[in-house]
Amino acid sequence: MSAALDVEAIRGDFPILKTKMNGKPLVYLDSAATSQKPIQVIDAISEYYRSYNANIHRGLYKISEKATEQYIESKGKLAKFLGAQKYSEILYVRNATEAINLVSKAWGEKNVKKGDHILISEMEHHANLVPWQVLARRNGAVLDYIKLDRQARHIDMADFEAKLENNPKILAVTEVSNVLGTINDVKAMARKAHKKGAMVLVDGAQSAPHMKVDVSDIDCDFFALSGHKMLAPTGIGALYGKTKVLEEMEPFMTGGDMIKSVSYEGTAWNDLPWKFEAGTPNIEGGIVFGTALDYLNGLGMGKVREHEKQITRYALEALQKVKGVTIYGPEEKDIERRGGVISFALEGIHPHDVAQIFDAEGIAIRAGHHCAMPLVTQRLGQAAVSRLSFYIYNNEGEVDKAIAAIGKVKKVFNL
Ligand code: PMP
Repeated sequence: MSAALDVEAIRGDFPILKTKMNGKPLVYLDSAATSQKPIQVIDAISEYYRSYNANIHRGLYKISEKATEQYIESKGKLAKFLGAQKYSEILYVRNATEAINLVSKAWGEKNVKKGDHILISEMEHHANLVPWQVLARRNGAVLDYIKLDRQARHIDMADFEAKLENNPKILAVTEVSNVLGTINDVKAMARKAHKKGAMVLVDGAQSAPHMKVDVSDIDCDFFALSGHKMLAPTGIGALYGKTKVLEEMEPFMTGGDMIKSVSYEGTAWNDLPWKFEAGTPNIEGGIVFGTALDYLNGLGMGKVREHEKQITRYALEALQKVKGVTIYGPEEKDIERRGGVISFALEGIHPHDVAQIFDAEGIAIRAGHHCAMPLVTQRLGQAAVSRLSFYIYNNEGEVDKAIAAIGKVKKVFNL
């Protein structure tokens, strides 16, 4: 039983949780990869196509006006959800990966020069690593990695401060690691980075779905997220950017809707946020993101986080008791600095075998490098790890099933 959320009522809103996988009730423990969708979101998609599907901005007719209004209203909801000043600071993109690529191209190409430093951490997802590697190579810049502490649980703050002495042009860091579950103190890091004149990008793909985020309080210049990890459909994500920064940036892509006027001689860019949304956007995804935010706001992000702490603590306690298991990331007593992601290794068994046996039990988990290959292979020294990840609809009974499945894995392998 969760004291924070009525999980059973929430489960009733997610049709997929009534389905079976391999003949067993589906136990979905892979929400860090993508979340499941409540009926409210599924219905909103259908309603859009059934009753007001039209292109936005252009139509001088009722349903186009409605679609435009709903799309803008959704941005307003996201701005509020993130503590941004106004909807024009919210750019809709496909996902967090595109949001970070946008910054690395539109801001990075112009501002990062030969010999400049870019600062990221050793725990970054490829989405917040590869774009900076590419930028560094192209512009002759130096990419520095903030080290993790000895046990690979947290960012080594002394190393962070030492690397700040290189006066990086930008600090790009995740708020929550999708492998370790570590919650980074991005507010403190942003303050220190700004003092050195660096820009700050926060990868919020794993934080925005799970806890209260306030970009004004963090004081980051950019914040990237993916809608599909927070109840919205795939193909919709967002980049928050401070108005002044976005105004100074050139567009990432050019074409329709991002223009104010075009002549054969040249083009004047549109106002924010449209300057960064070339072509017909994901109208359906944008609108329905608003429905997903309504759902999360209805629960309250404080309670969402409380539930996450409860279920993560419950799972950590149970997992610690299983012989041969190594758990990565912060310890249970450090739950305030840990999200709902638990990566683990089972001695002598490949994680893909673990995931396969879980699958046969109807339990969806992920095994691999989790798109953080340098962290998993070079820093943790593993080819792959298994990962359980939780969300608002997971209950303790499902954790018990996962623990029982580990028992089955050990039995199959005679351990
Ligand atoms: N950053 C982190 C920390 C992530 O976990 C993910 C998704 N696994 C991403 C970025 C990229 O998200 P997407 O694939 O939706 O662009």
